[in-house]
Amino acid sequence: MNRLWERMRIIPTTALVVAAILYLTLAATMWLGPISHEREVQEWPMVLKLVLTFVAPLIVSIYVLLVGFVYADARRRAMRHTMWTLIAIFVPYGIGMIFYFAMRDPLPAPCPQCNVTVPASFTFCPHCGFAIRPTCSQCGKQVENSWANCAHCGTKLPKDVPQTAA
Ligand SMILES: [Zn+2]
Ligand SMILES: [Zn+2]
Repeated sequence: MNRLWERMRIIPTTALVVAAILYLTLAATMWLGPISHEREVQEWPMVLKLVLTFVAPLIVSIYVLLVGFVYADARRRAMRHTMWTLIAIFVPYGIGMIFYFAMRDPLPAPCPQCNVTVPASFTFCPHCGFAIRPTCSQCGKQVENSWANCAHCGTKLPKDVPQTAA
């Protein structure tokens, strides 16, 4: 539960405020509206009335919080956060969100040299130029540690691919 809470801390304040206002408004509207005034609804069992007043608005609020989470999470992963937020809102039944969680990029990590946060897909740090992944000394493209030769230019690679000198 603690780890979940840690992860949820990135939800923007705007989303928290919107979720809280929506919850209170929906609960108050339900309680003061149909539940207090409509004859037919008044005869419903108390449990049903309580669920309608307190649980149904909660689902709406959780939806808002999840959209806020997608926005902040996509942003820190350097993904197209506006597009993903819209997908999370408008693709029905939460399918947009499931899609997001399946497709999202890995979290950016700090550059080992200058500590600036760099998206996981980058080969070089845009700030200081440090080679975050092993690169070919000839063509500068990304190579893998297991390669004997560069797949891009054919240069023979040293056994232990050196990281760019600091
Ligand atoms: Zn750097
Ligand atoms: Zn190369």
